[in-house]
Amino acid sequence: MSDLRFSCTCGALTGHLMDASPRAGAHAICHCEDCRRTLAYYNIPLAADEGVGLFQTNPDNIRIDTGRRYLGLMRLSPRGLFRWYASCCNTPLFNSSTRPRFPFSSVLTRNMIDTDPLGPVVGQVFKRGPNGKTRHEGMGRLVAGMMLRTGSALVTGKWRQTPFFNVETGEPVATPVIAPRDAGRAGS
Ligand SMILES: [Zn+2]
Ligand SMILES: [Zn+2]
Repeated sequence: MSDLRFSCTCGALTGHLMDASPRAGAHAICHCEDCRRTLAYYNIPLAADEGVGLFQTNPDNIRIDTGRRYLGLMRLSPRGLFRWYASCCNTPLFNSSTRPRFPFSSVLTRNMIDTDPLGPVVGQVFKRGPNGKTRHEGMGRLVAGMMLRTGSALVTGKWRQTPFFNVETGEPVATPVIAPRDAGRAGS
């Protein structure tokens, strides 16, 4: 079991993955509009064909070691995914579902020192082809892995170990801030 460390840009918020291995999640690259907009919102440049590296894993695999008070929560729309960031230096860190009983999350791999333990990228989703059409590679594997992991967390009760929610109330540990509608859009 390796514990892979991650950190915000300024180093105030740090943490680690309990199990950083291909069996604990899926190493993927997401090219979707919202993932790209999130990085643009935090002024992180991306090339036109560049996606966002993610490790999809259960929340109980994510441990925050320092700077928990800087954990902030952003949504691109009132119904959007939870997008967690470090408020000390505006570093996007994680994505998660909006309720603890759907124990699904992903860690942005750009904040990790080393992504080798995660294994190779097994899926690339929302990739734009030369004709402008989006296509997915390895989507079936990503969805199957997610269902297996979230199902197991529900059965074992591990869903209760989450850095994102108060499991008694179901409320997120930070108050979500809805980003402006044009946040991170091209030309804004
Ligand atoms: Zn920071
Ligand atoms: Zn995405």
